[in-house]
Amino acid sequence: MAKIGMKTPLVEIDGDEMTRVLWELVKEKLILPFVDLRTEYYDLGLMNRDATGDGVTAESAQAILRLGVGVKCATITANAARREEYGLRALHPSPNATIRAVLDGTVFRKPIRAACIKPSISSWKKPIVIGRHAYGDVYKAVEMEIEGPGRVELVYTGPGGVRRSVTVADFDGPGIVQGMHNKEGSIRSFARACFLYALEEKLPVWFAAKDTISKIYDGRFKAIFAEVYETEFREKCEAAGISYFYTLIDDAVARVVKGEGGFLWACKNYDGDVMSDMIAGAAGSLAMMTSVLVSPSGAFEYEAAHGTVQKHYYRYRGGEKTSTNPVALIFAWTGALAKRAELDGTAELGDFARRLERAALDAIEAGEMTGDLAVLSRGPKPAAALNSWDFIDAIAGRL
Ligand code: NAP
Ligand code: MG
Repeated sequence: MAKIGMKTPLVEIDGDEMTRVLWELVKEKLILPFVDLRTEYYDLGLMNRDATGDGVTAESAQAILRLGVGVKCATITANAARREEYGLRALHPSPNATIRAVLDGTVFRKPIRAACIKPSISSWKKPIVIGRHAYGDVYKAVEMEIEGPGRVELVYTGPGGVRRSVTVADFDGPGIVQGMHNKEGSIRSFARACFLYALEEKLPVWFAAKDTISKIYDGRFKAIFAEVYETEFREKCEAAGISYFYTLIDDAVARVVKGEGGFLWACKNYDGDVMSDMIAGAAGSLAMMTSVLVSPSGAFEYEAAHGTVQKHYYRYRGGEKTSTNPVALIFAWTGALAKRAELDGTAELGDFARRLERAALDAIEAGEMTGDLAVLSRGPKPAAALNSWDFIDAIAGRL
């Protein structure tokens, strides 16, 4: 059988732990036998990030801007424990935060739905898509430990040397402080990306923040969203029957769990981080959530929404064939291949991506699935949950 060709390479970003193991397996069993795969490879495994002084992370992000489409494995965000575990020279920032800062994009997360997996929130009839602002706030914050009494101030110095300051706190003992920021341009492109995505997918848009408490910071987010909607999108949205709704973040959370779904929930960076795991967990499994970072310049990065599945990796290293679900990783690859196909006009490649997705869902719906899904399935049940290797073989067989 002739393999399906590619015009432009994908940026392939390798990662860590269990997802790195599955990454290889997915490529070997589900992609390489069918596609003449062309990629520009970046190894973002923790040791290589450390060895390159994290240079490889920025290079991979630049490559996505240059080539237009990337696919990324999950990566460890190093902390003190990881530094000890891997003997790291330095603690670099989260690779995802670095890549998102370069691409200045918005992350859209959507549950992957199999007919036999019912959400644990019974009122949900339609998927909830999270649109997560991917720049700034706590992910680009600076922090300081305060050792003892003293004043902390926030100082702005303008181009002419004009200074403005506010007191953050007068400390009477040790404490902690954090300074975070965002940029109007980034908030504006976040709002635009959300309305464009909503128009494409025909979804109403919800946006929520805490402007009652954070009158300037969150107030600015609210005002920019409203302005972008009024000046650029109201007419198009009304014509498409799509509404825009703003509310406070706590009210939004209460409405989300009582509602029936079927909307795009635009979230500030941190809210999106937390709420996408809530949506993924309640929709079924963390391993059934896709994630795509869309930059305003039209570059796309596809990944799984979950992490490196550390606990499974330790069991794998101990010799166990774990039942780790590879579906979100598979959908990261199919999302990237389909986008490449769309941009290059290579229909056969796009068709392959859809077939691979269908094969994965067909396997699950026929009762062949990993342990995380076996406990949730309301359809045919496997006698025993498949391990990742057997599950991937089951998909390959259908493909
Ligand atoms: P995680 O890797 O998402 O896993 C948390 C738990 O969720 C797992 O222990 C497992 O539960 C379940 N799970 C997640 N993905 C699964 C899958 N594919 N199949 C089956 N179960 C799955 O989060 P973590 O353990 O908190 O983080 C591990 C590392 O990932 C950290 O170093 C973190 O920095 C990194 N991380 C990376 C990204 C990214 O690169 N996008 C995102 C988040 C976290 P059970 O153990 O109960 O089976
Ligand atoms: Mg998260």
